[in-house]
Amino acid sequence: MDYIDPHIHMVSRITDDYATLARMGCVAVSEPAFWAGFDRGSVDGFRDYFCQLTEVEPRRAAQYGIQHFTWLCINAKEAENVELSREVIAMIPEFLDRPGVLGIGEIGLNKNTPNEATIFIEHMELAIAHEQSILIHTPHLEDKYQGTRMILDMLCGDSRVNRDRVLVDHVEEHTVAEVLDRGFWAGMTLYPISKCTPDRAVDMIEMYGAERLLVNSAGDWGPSKPTAVPDLIFECRQRGIPEATIRKVVYENPIAFFSQSKNFNFQPRDGQQAPAV
Ligand SMILES: [Zn+2]
Repeated sequence: MDYIDPHIHMVSRITDDYATLARMGCVAVSEPAFWAGFDRGSVDGFRDYFCQLTEVEPRRAAQYGIQHFTWLCINAKEAENVELSREVIAMIPEFLDRPGVLGIGEIGLNKNTPNEATIFIEHMELAIAHEQSILIHTPHLEDKYQGTRMILDMLCGDSRVNRDRVLVDHVEEHTVAEVLDRGFWAGMTLYPISKCTPDRAVDMIEMYGAERLLVNSAGDWGPSKPTAVPDLIFECRQRGIPEATIRKVVYENPIAFFSQSKNFNFQPRDGQQAPAV
């Protein structure tokens, strides 16, 4: 089954991973800007990273027939440095018209600090000013519930935010309902050590249905599995989930959400119809 991984950090993966993803049915990836495995020292470090995301990775992906899309921001982990964050936010508009740039992300909270919240709101202002979609990182483990509530409150506190254009990632059983109820898209991140496993993700599909629900692998610097979405497809089939439901979660929903971004020029494989959005 063709699928799209809507949240995978390919800069942290080797080229062989692109080949494996292609063999497993991956036709497109979307790569949010995140931590690079180390804290960067200057705005130029981020400018180079954004060139990597908008120039180098699309070329590397294209060698395997995979279309590459991306999101730009300074991540919550490095947002503790408010001065640097503001320099990065001021520089981002240089890149917003580049092909494949879908919006601002992944912004969010890491340890739920006041500085992180300040920079979150400034990113939100940037997205509103430039009519960009937003991709959200919610904190992990013990910080997740409170951090998710804080993020949703900040988003819902601003009437200019269009919730149809916000994807909240790393949802789990205790956060998914509120994200969907408040009108956002929700992404389940499949991970070997934290976040969500494929069988827990199938539980959530059974409980909440496929509407506005996405699934991704993260594929980042930590222990993670870039082929986690095919694992989910397999688990869904084992559990008797209809093929149309699986296709909606792993293919049609990412296309529907991304299609709101003007730089999403996705080309379905030959002979396939783009799903109606
Ligand atoms: Zn991420």
